[in-house]
Amino acid sequence: MSDPLERPAEGEGAAASGPRRRFELEETGFDEVPVRYRRFYRHWRGPGDALGPNEVICPVCKVVIRSSRELREGDRLYCMACMTRLRVRRGAQGGLEADCEY
Ligand SMILES: [Zn+2]
Repeated sequence: MSDPLERPAEGEGAAASGPRRRFELEETGFDEVPVRYRRFYRHWRGPGDALGPNEVICPVCKVVIRSSRELREGDRLYCMACMTRLRVRRGAQGGLEADCEY
């Protein structure tokens, strides 16, 4: 398994808005993880950049983690770039953010 989305949310959050959209991921030149995982990560390009519904920023290493599926609140992700387990939540601005799981 290589998708950072390890464990989709269960229960309410999971069923909230129907089936998850799927995304085709392309490599963007991120070379800090082994080749087969590269398309699941990209660098944040700063102001003007925007996250897709399948993307969230790792709070530890600040890279953008990308899943082949739409992300939802409560999902658990694994950031291979810094080897941290994360949990997705709804941020104050309305977008998705991630917290470390200990
Ligand atoms: Zn990370």
